[in-house]
Amino acid sequence: MNLSSALQKKIFHIVRISSQRIKQDSYVIGGYVRDFLLGKKESEDLDILTIGEGIRLAKEVSKYIKPYPKIRIFKRFGTAMLKYNNQKIEFVGARKESYCFSSRNPFVELGSLQDDQNRRDFTINALAISLNHNNYGKLIDPFGGLSDLKKKILRTPLDSNVTYSDDPLRMMRAIRFSTQLQFSIEKSSFKSIKKNKNRINIVSSERIIEEFNKILLSKKPSIGLLLLYESGLLSIILPELTLLKGIEEKNGYKHKDNFYHTLQVVDNISKIKENSLWLRWAALLHDIGKIHTKKFLPKIGWSFHSHEFVGSKMIFHIFKRLKLPIGNPMKYVKKIIQNSYKPIALIGDKTRDSSIRRLLFEIGDDVEDLMKLCLADITTSNMEKKKKYQENIYFLMERIEKLEKKDKIKNWKSPISGNDIMKVFNINPCKKIGIIKNFIKDSILEGKISNEFQSAYFLMLKKGEELGLKKNNE
Ligand code: ATP
Ligand code: MG
Repeated sequence: MNLSSALQKKIFHIVRISSQRIKQDSYVIGGYVRDFLLGKKESEDLDILTIGEGIRLAKEVSKYIKPYPKIRIFKRFGTAMLKYNNQKIEFVGARKESYCFSSRNPFVELGSLQDDQNRRDFTINALAISLNHNNYGKLIDPFGGLSDLKKKILRTPLDSNVTYSDDPLRMMRAIRFSTQLQFSIEKSSFKSIKKNKNRINIVSSERIIEEFNKILLSKKPSIGLLLLYESGLLSIILPELTLLKGIEEKNGYKHKDNFYHTLQVVDNISKIKENSLWLRWAALLHDIGKIHTKKFLPKIGWSFHSHEFVGSKMIFHIFKRLKLPIGNPMKYVKKIIQNSYKPIALIGDKTRDSSIRRLLFEIGDDVEDLMKLCLADITTSNMEKKKKYQENIYFLMERIEKLEKKDKIKNWKSPISGNDIMKVFNINPCKKIGIIKNFIKDSILEGKISNEFQSAYFLMLKKGEELGLKKNNE
């Protein structure tokens, strides 16, 4: 099969000329070829494989590019990378790998094209297109990758047991590709994942999370989350989630399966908001507090009282263990989970404006995301109920929008500062300043005064007087 149509770009001609000059055969390999054959949007990464030294080829290629590009060299791996027209181009020398049991970093020696294709994770990622003079554009497909692409199947080029045991990250990659491409993992390959699941412990958390995040960011994350569960990997990586599985029944009272519910919430949120990694994490973990709060109350049924609070307390440890960022993303996820039930308490037309202002004050800019999570959380299969619940949320969203437009509470800053108060009453820092500030804040949130300087100023004078302060008349 000739695929010169995949090689329209100038860069491929540059590589061809460069390879010829230094007498090293070269190929495009991996994701670029796969995505081209799938008719997907052009990959941002381009992997060039050369039979010889990758760094040498990168240096030769750079001579043909203007302005002269910066080459990043990774001596330890014998690879080099440069950017050209917004594309990351990586140059790798063909290699042969052998592994030892305790590490996923192989012993590497120079190899042939076939050696290099053997070490690739899946047949669809081992597809290569020749950039060489004699067979430019030829597809080199030793393992039937093209047929697997058509069959939508993920298969390892060599024995799957060995492939996953050698580098257990490939188990995560199998599930990630299966989720992104909606391909199935070959049966015997999935069996090998199950068998090798404990080998994931030799992979660093950072690498595991990189794949996990790609699963979460895909169109339908539940595909991957279910595979992670079925393979046994999820109970190693995120046992808090698998513990949500199961339905209990007592005296005729049943609770829902919170694991499957969670997967649905994650899928829902992925439809509602694109590229929202941390909101998806919040959706994924929004019910984990239910493990520790589950109670059976006779004549009432199952209760998970204050699970949002308990759940939010678990976030720090999970983020730390998984090496997820402890800064703003963690704070955001914690905040969303902790407040995930608040909007539900504000459903209905009897809700006072002041309660909505308080929600806006506490949640600020994240209020939209919080409301989206509330929408995603509706997973009932009763269509009538579903519609009613959704309408309730939309109604609340409208009220939030209107109130925010009018009162500007989201990023609220007191119209009167502590300094203003000290100046007006000629006092030093003391408790009374806090009392006055709080009084002003509460009056604005309660709607007793409007959110602007004049009204706040008069209120300050009144409250100050009550507290025995005198206005400085100078
Ligand atoms: P994408 O970049 O779209 O996620 P990709 O296939 O390009 O997908 P990369 O992680 O960029 O994936 O890797 C490039 C290629 O390197 C892969 O297509 C595969 O051939 C090979 N590869 C990457 N990681 C591994 C691994 N752990 N084991 C074996 N081969 C791998
Ligand atoms: Mg890539």
